[in-house]
Amino acid sequence: MNAFFRNLIQTLFPSTCACCGDVLMAGENQICINCLSNLTATLYTAHDDNRTERLLTGRIPLHKATSIFVFRQGNTVQQVIHSMKFHGNSDLCLFMGRQMGLELLQSGRFDDIDLLVPVPLHWRRRLQRGYNQSELLCRGISQIMNRPINTRTLVRHRYTHEQSLQAAADREENVKDAFRLHHPDELTGKHILLVDDVLTTGATLVSCCEVLSRVNNLKISIATLSVAGQ
Ligand SMILES: [Zn+2]
Repeated sequence: MNAFFRNLIQTLFPSTCACCGDVLMAGENQICINCLSNLTATLYTAHDDNRTERLLTGRIPLHKATSIFVFRQGNTVQQVIHSMKFHGNSDLCLFMGRQMGLELLQSGRFDDIDLLVPVPLHWRRRLQRGYNQSELLCRGISQIMNRPINTRTLVRHRYTHEQSLQAAADREENVKDAFRLHHPDELTGKHILLVDDVLTTGATLVSCCEVLSRVNNLKISIATLSVAGQ
């Protein structure tokens, strides 16, 4: 499409910010510059023993872990997650995945990752939403880090209730035995990056890792787009 028609379409159907709804200016993508600067960064990725690693260490065999943004009730990060999960905004998922990829790449701590593995959705939830937001985050990361994505091996075979509606105490029970492995040999000897959108209690990631630990000689690192703030 030439520049004239592209400008005409943008004038007739301007894109709006996924957070505040303002019309996006030239050079802005998905989120306006104002909202982008309001995303609370964790600054964990470059550091060992960050809060995400401490939350998960000892519960699962973990190599490295990070979360990129802090999720709090009513903050801009929560608006982003809400738009990713409930407004069908698949382009925003890809955009946030690229933000994750840039930070992972810059830190240099995740250079030996072989494969990206999204936390899977049950097929019924995927059908309702039209996509798995964690898989789209992986695609965004892959665009930056150039790593393949594996969605065949770790699968969710049990339909579970939406985690955000549940009390913390119920979460472990909710995701217990929710995951299974198909074709585990595809991960043998690999260092995988398990990717999810939100880390709260860690119950979902722990449940995934319990199943993944049956793969021979597997190294697991974890990256989540956000972590619930204290
Ligand atoms: Zn905005």
